[in-house]
Amino acid sequence: MKAIVIGAGLGGLLSAARLSKAGYAVEVFERLPITGGRFTNLEYEGFQLSSGAFHMFPHGPGGPLARLLEEVGADVQIVRSGQTALRVPLKKGSTDYGAGFRDIPFYDFPALLSNKDRLKTAFLIASTRKNRPAGSTLQAWIKTQVKDEWLVRLADSFCGWSLSLRSEEVPVEEVFEIIENLYRFGGPGVPMGGCKGVIDALEAVIAANGGIIRTKTEVSKILVENGKVTGVLVNGEEHEADQVISNIGHAATAGLCGEALSGEKYAGYLEMLETLQPSAGIKICLSAAEPLIGHSGVLLTPYAKRINGINEVTQVDPKLAPPGRHLTMSHQHVAPENVKDLEAEIELGLKDLKAIFPGKKYEVLLIQSYHDGWPVNRAASGTDPGNETPITGLYVVGDGAKGKGGIEVEGVALGVAATMKKILG
Ligand SMILES: Cc1cc2nc3c(=O)[nH]c(=O)nc-3n(C[C@H](O)[C@H](O)[C@H](O)COP(=O)(O)OP(=O)(O)OC[C@H]3O[C@@H](n4cnc5c(N)ncnc54)[C@H](O)[C@@H]3O)c2cc1C
Repeated sequence: MKAIVIGAGLGGLLSAARLSKAGYAVEVFERLPITGGRFTNLEYEGFQLSSGAFHMFPHGPGGPLARLLEEVGADVQIVRSGQTALRVPLKKGSTDYGAGFRDIPFYDFPALLSNKDRLKTAFLIASTRKNRPAGSTLQAWIKTQVKDEWLVRLADSFCGWSLSLRSEEVPVEEVFEIIENLYRFGGPGVPMGGCKGVIDALEAVIAANGGIIRTKTEVSKILVENGKVTGVLVNGEEHEADQVISNIGHAATAGLCGEALSGEKYAGYLEMLETLQPSAGIKICLSAAEPLIGHSGVLLTPYAKRINGINEVTQVDPKLAPPGRHLTMSHQHVAPENVKDLEAEIELGLKDLKAIFPGKKYEVLLIQSYHDGWPVNRAASGTDPGNETPITGLYVVGDGAKGKGGIEVEGVALGVAATMKKILG
């Protein structure tokens, strides 16, 4: 059996590793000169910056990605990060960090509520594990339960960091699925060597199983006969396959199918694809001699204007920066209406950093923005249409086709695992 994978992003390489291990002849086509897509390192002056991700697995060594890497035999060491912390103003009632701040552990968030709301929140946490809320957004749901502005800030900061969305954009059922996964798999972790540590390990598995990865090779068409995939077109040449796994999202995959997806039969699918919204964001990479955060956990910043959270990966793997330096990275969600004005958003992010790290010395290494064809997520969490397509033998993996409740690369791994189950049984 032969499988072709379009795109050497994380989802594509995980699929290629799993299928090659199962005995498939596997060929991966990647249009860029590098592999890894939005999950690899970019070397810059001795720092291991990245093409996308913050060198972090949302569920560390206990999550779906760690499990899938182990299953395919990829040699990656993942170190659990410390506790997530919340930076809150010192003075009650302040809405910024101007008059000072303190950091509290994430699980202490109810301490900032009134006694009445604290009790109500404790009751909600206990009761919603059995009776999941549904049918609204997270923000709308919070507002009907506990009318406290702090919880909305916290929700925006958490959703901004982990999904690059506002709490008003996330279906409440997806958030409860995420919370359940946090109980089940634990909090984040950092792969040693950063994102590229993972990509290199997957490539080693694919090579050991006889798979081939071709970079600088773009797939221009997906070939379909009688509703079944038969291969792909590359540089005008047809390559046959029994299965095609696309790592480029549902919309781009449909685009490569062309005529094969025209007609009444596919109209509903194509209409649904138009509703999928990629999420946008900005990453700012900082270098400092002294640590800016000082621990390996995520620092959520609910009182910043734009920045949702920050991590300092050199607390886990010092080799991600040159000796004597730290690599600290901030993330900010960009609302759809602000994508047209990224420079203003970046300015607000830089201003936030000054307020979050007053008096600290740091250098801005790189500012990256992500949207449209190179987004933070191809489909907003909780909205993607799964891994199957209307074409038999054609599947979509990656962050446009995640598993339920799967934050970012954990969702990519859940989606790949579900696809492999369909193909391999
Ligand atoms: C700023 C930012 C921070 C993030 N932080 C984290 C984090 O800390 N933790 C986390 O879990 N996730 C994080 N993510 C999300 C994570 O990076 C992505 O979910 C993940 O990398 C997506 O992988 P993918 O499998 O969808 O493949 P992609 O990265 O989308 O790769 C797809 C590949 O397909 C190639 N391709 C496209 N078209 C063609 C074609 N026609 N022919 C051949 N090749 C083609 C592309 O060049 C690309 O290499 C972050 C993302 C961003 C942008």
